[in-house]
Amino acid sequence: MVTLKDGRVFGSRKLIWAAGIIGNKLKGLPAEALLRGNRLQVDAFNKVEHVQDVYAIGDVAAAKEEKYPDGHPQVAQVAMQQAKRLAKNFQLMAKGKPLIPFEYKDKGSMATIGRNRAVVDLPNAFFKGRLAWWLWLGVHLFSIVGAKNRIMIFINWVWNYITYDQSLRLIIRPFVRTKSN
Ligand SMILES: Cc1cc2nc3c(=O)[nH]c(=O)nc-3n(C[C@H](O)[C@H](O)[C@H](O)COP(=O)(O)OP(=O)(O)OC[C@H]3O[C@@H](n4cnc5c(N)ncnc54)[C@H](O)[C@@H]3O)c2cc1C
Repeated sequence: MVTLKDGRVFGSRKLIWAAGIIGNKLKGLPAEALLRGNRLQVDAFNKVEHVQDVYAIGDVAAAKEEKYPDGHPQVAQVAMQQAKRLAKNFQLMAKGKPLIPFEYKDKGSMATIGRNRAVVDLPNAFFKGRLAWWLWLGVHLFSIVGAKNRIMIFINWVWNYITYDQSLRLIIRPFVRTKSN
C-alpha cells in the first residue's frame, strides 16, 4: 500500500521513488548566500557571495553561467572541474596574478541500468548496450582515487559479474507476502 503525504492511500505493485538532495546549512553564513536546496551562491571564481574568503565547489555551490542560469548540474564532473580550477586559482592568488573564471565543459553523460546495459551520450556521439557498459565501467574505475581503491573495486565488480551478486546495490529487502499485507 502507498500512503501519500496528503493522506491518500492506494495499492500498487510497483513504486518508483525519486528523491532530491539538499545541502547542510553551515553556521555563520548569511541567509542571502543560500539558494534553492541550500546551495551556496558563488561567483565565477567559486567565492561564496556576501562573505569574504569562503569558497564552495561541487553540489553545494551554485554558480550561474549564461548556459546554466539555475547553477550547474549536481554531477561529479562539475565538482571535479571546479576543484581543479579553484586549486589553480589559489596558486595564482598566492602569486598575485589574475584569476581565471570557471567555465563548465560538459563532456557528456553516461548511465547504466544493469548488466551489459548502459547509455553513453557524448557531445558528438550516442550509443548504448554492451560497448556503452564497458566504457561506463572503465571511466568510473579510472575516476576512483588511489590505486588500492581502484583494484579493490575492480575485484568486487569482477566477483559480482561472475556470481550475479547484486547485494551491494540493493537498498531494499525482499517483499514477503503474509496474511496481514
Ligand atoms: C544516488 C546518486 C547517484 C549519483 N550518480 C551520479 C552519476 O552517475 N554521475 C555523476 O556524475 N554524478 C552522480 N551523482 C552526483 C554526484 O555524486 C555528486 O555530484 C558529487 O558527489 C558531488 O561531489 P561533492 O564533492 O560536491 O559532494 P559529495 O561527494 O556529496 O561530498 C560532500 C562530503 O561532505 C560531507 N559533509 C556534508 N556536510 C558536512 C559537514 N557539515 N561537515 C563535514 N562534512 C560534511 C559529506 O559527508 C560528503 O562526504 C549521484 C548522486 C547520488 C546521490
